[in-house]
Amino acid sequence: MRPQESVLLWFRRDLRLADNPALRHAVAAGLPIVPVFLRDPEGEGQPGPGAASRWWLHQSLFRLDESLRAHGSRLILRHGPAATCLAHLAEETHARAVFANCVYDPSAQHLDASVAAQLRAAGITLELSHTGLLWPPGSIRTTTGGVFQVFTPFWRACWNRRGELGPPLSAPRTLPRPGRWPSSLLLNEFNLEPKIDWAAGIRAAWTPGESAALARLRSFTRNGLADYPTERNRPDHDGVSRLSPHLHFGEISPLQIWHALAGNSSAEPFLRQIAWREFAHHLLAEYPHIPRESWNPRFRHFPWRRNRRWLAAWQHGRTGYPFVDAAMRQLWTTGWMHNRARMVVASFLVKDLLIPWQDGAAWFLDTLVDADLANNTLGWQWVAGCGFDAAPYFRIFNPIAQGEKFDPEGEYVRHWIPELRKFPSKWIHQPWLAPSAELAAAGVRLGRDYPRPIVDHAHARTAALAAFAATKTSASKS
Ligand SMILES: Cc1cc2nc3c(=O)[nH]c(=O)nc-3n(C[C@H](O)[C@H](O)[C@H](O)COP(=O)(O)OP(=O)(O)OC[C@H]3O[C@@H](n4cnc5c(N)ncnc54)[C@H](O)[C@@H]3O)c2cc1C
Repeated sequence: MRPQESVLLWFRRDLRLADNPALRHAVAAGLPIVPVFLRDPEGEGQPGPGAASRWWLHQSLFRLDESLRAHGSRLILRHGPAATCLAHLAEETHARAVFANCVYDPSAQHLDASVAAQLRAAGITLELSHTGLLWPPGSIRTTTGGVFQVFTPFWRACWNRRGELGPPLSAPRTLPRPGRWPSSLLLNEFNLEPKIDWAAGIRAAWTPGESAALARLRSFTRNGLADYPTERNRPDHDGVSRLSPHLHFGEISPLQIWHALAGNSSAEPFLRQIAWREFAHHLLAEYPHIPRESWNPRFRHFPWRRNRRWLAAWQHGRTGYPFVDAAMRQLWTTGWMHNRARMVVASFLVKDLLIPWQDGAAWFLDTLVDADLANNTLGWQWVAGCGFDAAPYFRIFNPIAQGEKFDPEGEYVRHWIPELRKFPSKWIHQPWLAPSAELAAAGVRLGRDYPRPIVDHAHARTAALAAFAATKTSASKS
């Protein structure tokens, strides 16, 4: 008897069943489907997923397996080089084809080519589908065919093409299963969860998985969308969607979001943010070196400082600037930080401390549950003033003024810095100016319970501007 043929469904950054074109094509093949997820440390690119992302991935794979089982299927887990793993699994399961969705990170381009070549040699096709972005990289161009380097015209071009976006695909009711399942690793064997359990704060803050992503979108649409334009800048309020990790892992697609909100008159400011995500991914695909190098060559001569003590103070929320420290502690505890706070802490690292933006980007990639090479690179280069559509270098965020403006009562600071919980709002963003009676009443001894500022912002600003001016001279000499 001829062995029963099958097809493989290779899950990657698309950990969902709805709006999953690869899944739809696998079903259309009319053969049993073997869903697989691979851990391929070499193919994941550099750097691989950080500690917080690995925690999320573990939970997300667990949920994906649960939903596959509810559809009569399951998830097979394998470890090793993707091309070899898929070729072996295809041989074991008599698979004719592998269906997958594209990943647009630079490392995935090489990976896909080598996977396709190895499968082709075994007579198996790799069928890649587009999802994860509204438009594939390279498809939104200027009228002369160039790459958009400024966001607003890019957004306008996206908006003008919104009519092309069809409805998202629904999840299939059931998935045809093979007669016999191939072997699978246990999820724990991926070693994604930390050995020492530091993830309690992340666990309390998040529910990974497709159902949770859809629930979050529904609740944000009901409760947050209308006030998003004003509330999105307030880290002390719950005014943003917090969809970023769900989007990163593909538990929800941008098309599902777009479709759910299209026709809602208050949705445009939010959809614009979704387009920033597109912009970031389109740029990374065009310029794969930008996670390492400043896009503006002038910054390659920047006189950065390598001060490990300052870097550690920043990482652990002990700079002495409460707004910066609250944000860094929110990141450490929950694996996420509000966008306004990301801009302020990034500016503080790069401009007040003159530490290379790449060091901050690396810390974010390790600690964020939504760590995303494209969005993170764009964000850091934007703040540093060396990237696309970047803030001019001389626009240096004042960590005190930012706190007073976006956390006026100091609630965000009090929440994340328990040492300052009893501090009055008047001094909360600059406790070193508080009269000693106020400090005593709040039970704070500066320099002991909470640090004094590690740098003086006014001096640091002057030094940053001088450093920037020096790059002009060195760039013109080179
Ligand atoms: C220094 C720095 C580093 C960043 N690193 C990351 C990162 O690693 N991963 C990440 O997803 N975002 C990153 N961002 C962008 C932004 O801060 C987060 O996407 C946002 O805070 C996530 O929260 P949210 O889902 O509630 O956003 P919302 O305000 O609800 O926005 C909805 C979605 O739009 C997208 N989006 C919003 N703002 C941006 C932006 N500026 N750039 C790109 N996409 C955006 C995100 O996918 C987000 O989930 C970074 C920003 C800065 C300034």
